[in-house]
Amino acid sequence: MPPASTPHHAPFRLLDLPPELQAEVLAHVSALPSANVNAAARTCQAWNARLTPALYAALEVDRTNRRAVFAGLGLDFLSAPELESRTTEAGPGGNGAAAYAPHQPPPKLGKLAHTTRISLRDVPAAQALAEALFTYPALSGALDELTFSASLFRYLVRSGMAAFGRPRSGAAFLGETLVARLRPKVLRIEYPPPQGTLAANIFDPVLLTRVLAVLVAEWAPARIDFIGVGTDLPPVLGAHTRVFCLPCAGRKRNERVWGENAGCATHGGLVRWHLRRLFGPGAREDLLEAIDEGADPTDDGDIQPDGVPSAADARVEYWNVPCLAALDRDAFLDDTFKSWPPECDIEGRIDFFAEGA
Ligand SMILES: [Zn+2]
Repeated sequence: MPPASTPHHAPFRLLDLPPELQAEVLAHVSALPSANVNAAARTCQAWNARLTPALYAALEVDRTNRRAVFAGLGLDFLSAPELESRTTEAGPGGNGAAAYAPHQPPPKLGKLAHTTRISLRDVPAAQALAEALFTYPALSGALDELTFSASLFRYLVRSGMAAFGRPRSGAAFLGETLVARLRPKVLRIEYPPPQGTLAANIFDPVLLTRVLAVLVAEWAPARIDFIGVGTDLPPVLGAHTRVFCLPCAGRKRNERVWGENAGCATHGGLVRWHLRRLFGPGAREDLLEAIDEGADPTDDGDIQPDGVPSAADARVEYWNVPCLAALDRDAFLDDTFKSWPPECDIEGRIDFFAEGA
């Protein structure tokens, strides 16, 4: 027989707490990693409703979760060519895909309206997003941040999205859709792993320059981050570019080639070469030449060279370069431009950081 004095505990309920404490608990939960927020949102309807903004604030979409992320929107998960032919069907505003949206806006649409950051991990993720944007034009608009994975960025660059005179593919249509319908303040581009040799380019320089020119001209992002850059440093077109380099490959300083103020064997040479290409004599002409090389003379809507931002206004930061961050920056820059005087004032616009952010 159990002792009669056993206290009976009612289960603890969040709603028993004063409202200000409930709010604190939920704020704390919202800030947890997304897996935890996900689990918490499944505990009950009230939590689900309260955590929805946090749950949808940042979306990471890939081929395995895209059906769950866009569940309830009635998407058909079309390939890029299929989506392109659907959009050219007759429809309101020339967008045939909008005719596939249900008459009642699905509740999921309201949830996705909380999204401010999207990370597209692969091509199928970008295709699903493009279909959602076409089916529900209301989803288009500004984002705080958009991330392209390395595989997606490689696909977009190679698609011929911005280089005319090459066969146009469904991939080009996908890129054009993202460009036309999203407007990220920060663009994060994950770079494909470097090739074995220093001289090998990952990308055709003309294709790469033109795609970046389109993204910068159309979106005018406040910042572009290039993540995981090894040997193939990208052209800098945005107002503020951060290049996150791969960590120093070897500790050896490259004093023999680059002198006393030189950084490690990899970063010292690469960054110098990159800075000269950005700011040295003829830099702007070289950039415009690359853009011109893929130009379509019959297309009035082609990239306007005047609209391509000049490095003269750019700020460039190199991250993950402890070897350069430890140096006297001004001495490094003086050495870099000793025989290649910069074409514009670079004072205070180039910086080196040891840690990645
Ligand atoms: Zn280094």
